[in-house]
Amino acid sequence: MRLFLALVPPTEVRCRLGGLADRLHRELGGRRIPDANFHLTLAFLGEQPPETASHLLTWLGTKRLSPDAWSLDRVGHFSGPRIVWAGSRRPPDTLMSMQARLSEELRAQGIELRPRHFLPHVSLLRNTMPNAAQPFTEQAFRWPYTQIHLIQSVASSQGSRYHSLGSTQDVALP
Ligand code: ATP
Ligand code: MG
Repeated sequence: MRLFLALVPPTEVRCRLGGLADRLHRELGGRRIPDANFHLTLAFLGEQPPETASHLLTWLGTKRLSPDAWSLDRVGHFSGPRIVWAGSRRPPDTLMSMQARLSEELRAQGIELRPRHFLPHVSLLRNTMPNAAQPFTEQAFRWPYTQIHLIQSVASSQGSRYHSLGSTQDVALP
């Protein structure tokens, strides 16, 4: 099973990301990622046996995340995979430390993450390569999060589809 741990955007944030993806798609072309696929990968686990998935689900079910929020105010791109993404101008401290703790806990369970460097981003376009940095002309927006999901990525003829298998405990936003 191809697995990753991720934050899933609430509906309003998904809409904001969709608006940004539409604008960038008009300007840059490429393949716009469908709204349903927007996510923030915290840890890519790759191919894992089903036993690992059930072990991780049990572990996640014991965890409660302190609710927090991530601020998005930047467009970036990865030239290798030709991806345009939304992210932050400055490293979001609490998100970075939450991801670092998560990686430690995974390592303690024998799951080593590659790459080690975490650059929080939400992929919006594929197969496009801007020749200059793209301005973020929209208003910055916040993504409140309360849960980490274990997601299975399933390849299909229309690209990958994601299925949440389970998550950390549900906690209310303050
Ligand atoms: P597709 O590969 O079908 O174009 P995708 O990249 O979104 O779509 P996956 O390859 O299953 O689907 O990846 C799921 C998530 O894990 C994505 O956020 C992707 O960026 C990330 N990811 C995939 N491969 C790696 C990797 N080798 N290292 C780190 N993150 C990865
Ligand atoms: Mg991929």
